[in-house]
Amino acid sequence: MTRKIPSFIQVYKSLIKIPTISSNNKLIDQSNKNFIDLLSNYFSDLDFSINNYQIPHTNKFNMLACIGSGNGGLLLSGHSDTVDFDENAWTKDPFTLTEADNRFYGLGTVDMKGFFAFILDVISTINIKKITKPIYILATANEETDMSGVKHFIKSTIIKPDCIIIGEPTSLKLINAHKGHVSYSIEVLGNTGHSSNPDNGVNSIEIMYHIIKSLLILQKHFKRKYRHQDFSIPYPTMNLSAIHGGDAINRICSLCTLNFEIRPIPGLTLTQIEILIKEKLEKIIKKWSNRIFIKKLFSSVPAYKCSYKDNTIQILEKLCQLNSTSENYCTEAPFLEKIAPTLILGPGSIEQAHQPDEYLSHSFIRPTKKIINKLIHKFCY
Ligand SMILES: [Zn+2]
Repeated sequence: MTRKIPSFIQVYKSLIKIPTISSNNKLIDQSNKNFIDLLSNYFSDLDFSINNYQIPHTNKFNMLACIGSGNGGLLLSGHSDTVDFDENAWTKDPFTLTEADNRFYGLGTVDMKGFFAFILDVISTINIKKITKPIYILATANEETDMSGVKHFIKSTIIKPDCIIIGEPTSLKLINAHKGHVSYSIEVLGNTGHSSNPDNGVNSIEIMYHIIKSLLILQKHFKRKYRHQDFSIPYPTMNLSAIHGGDAINRICSLCTLNFEIRPIPGLTLTQIEILIKEKLEKIIKKWSNRIFIKKLFSSVPAYKCSYKDNTIQILEKLCQLNSTSENYCTEAPFLEKIAPTLILGPGSIEQAHQPDEYLSHSFIRPTKKIINKLIHKFCY
């Protein structure tokens, strides 16, 4: 068979070369259009049909490539964006795939443009004409910021694959669950005044003290009430992350801000968390109406657990000859799980993700190609 796309290394190089940084800082945030166009061309050259969608009100795109028809099949999913990089900490060019010490260095080598290079390589070497069920490839935008790419995808898609694999760097371990993440900021607006007379103002630090007391009761409630033995820390955690308030020693503090995060386990939803916070703070909010402002920080991710009901976990465990396990980092899995059983399995280690001189070890090359090959044969032939 003549190869329709460049070699594995050439493809990998070309994917790393195009910057696709997602950032909440608008000055750093980049469009992923050129990357999506290149990826689409590769899959198109392998006879896939391509559907690219722009995420509303952004310059970001999702790609859905498909070959084969009918129900079921396999969806291989990854995000097209990377985090920003620290210029001073990198010793290599982040956008040049550099081979050294039996590793591929570059921004996105493990997290997770490399996964697409593996998929393209495997598909270019198999007899694609013989598939009986569809193969879908999804490349999402903005995973590293607000996950708007995957959220847009699940809202608009009608596909129903039998199984979804997200190729995040799990060191080729099979992941079936992870905790979620949600963070809040509470602002208390007091009234300043000279400290010699406390009645001159309203001290926001004192109000915040009552808020913190209530939040710590909620923290204990999480630990007592919720449990999931798959996790090394088997309960939802709450961390009071940052507090700021006050200035001069003789001034009543007017503004006090507290930031905190909660990491729910499966079984505790983001809506339940919101209700519990409101319940716990209800009396304080009533007493100090118009002085307490709660807002969510960043984008939240629900906890995720792949359902055992439809046997997908068992099929994959057998296929990979591995027991599936849980992880602590967040992925797009809780969103994709809404359309089909979703597991996380990909080359490279999470230890290298978001780090200077990010790399993928050569030792992953053979086993990754083998497992992608097996997945396609299991679900699409
Ligand atoms: Zn990632």
